[in-house]
Amino acid sequence: MDPAAPAPGRTVPAALLEGVRPPPSREPFYLPVGREVAIFEACHASRLPVMLKGPTGCGKTRFVEHMAWRLRRPWVTVACHDDLSASDLIGRYLVRASETVWQDGPLTRAVRAGALCYLDEIVEARQDTVVVIHPLTDDRRLLPIDETGELIEAPPGFQLIVSYNPGYQHVLKDLKISTRQRFVALEFDFPPPELETRIVEHEGGVDHACATELVMLAGRLRQLRDRGLAEVPSTRLLVAAARLIAHGVSPADACRTAVAAPLTDEADLLAAIHDVIAAVL
Ligand code: ADP
Repeated sequence: MDPAAPAPGRTVPAALLEGVRPPPSREPFYLPVGREVAIFEACHASRLPVMLKGPTGCGKTRFVEHMAWRLRRPWVTVACHDDLSASDLIGRYLVRASETVWQDGPLTRAVRAGALCYLDEIVEARQDTVVVIHPLTDDRRLLPIDETGELIEAPPGFQLIVSYNPGYQHVLKDLKISTRQRFVALEFDFPPPELETRIVEHEGGVDHACATELVMLAGRLRQLRDRGLAEVPSTRLLVAAARLIAHGVSPADACRTAVAAPLTDEADLLAAIHDVIAAVL
């Protein structure tokens, strides 16, 4: 049986699957840093929801895309924010040409399609929004839709994945322990230098020497965290700098615009970053 097909007895009209991406047809480039692929596969087989913990730009989304390819599952991503309501996730009635029609939200579509559903930065969502995922994270794996009276049982292929950046957490915005305990947590961080160099080379289209320099620069800049740099350069920023370089921008300009400027507006810190760039390149 095609694992991407809906569960037997269940036909999902195409219109209901808007926003659900088909399984990637080609392998998305992902360099594993530890045993995350095998652990995720075990979670999928055991129907366990997964939390990806780690800083922004360190490969969490790429990992989900890669796993969608490996598991041949459709996938949906939702960027969470503090305005995100339960209806934004589940769906709502809309008035169309004097008719009231129900429209599924992305979570409902993911459940119907048996997709991987990735809720990025879950901690940004309001608590009353977060609780709607609870029934999907326990053994019953149900999605109740109060407005329509429907109770959808998630098919085996459905998997809930959330991401969470512990660096952003503060007292007002932290995931409740009752939510956290529902997930298996995989810890992500910036890849070790040798792997990060290969990633920058591959994704940025630069040679090994250039990628090595960018990664060395990142290593030095990440130490500035101790001097008050709240956000340190991510692998994503290094890839962006590499792409500029591959398009003929000088390494110094690439690093100033793609690495330094996005990180801070503070003059002192910017000057310190520029010094490091000048010293490394
Ligand atoms: P996050 O979701 O953690 O914010 P992304 O998955 O978007 O970050 O990663 C940013 C970019 O960094 C990716 O688009 C990819 O180019 C690169 N990247 C980071 N880690 C990896 C990895 N382990 N393998 C391949 N690419 C990676």
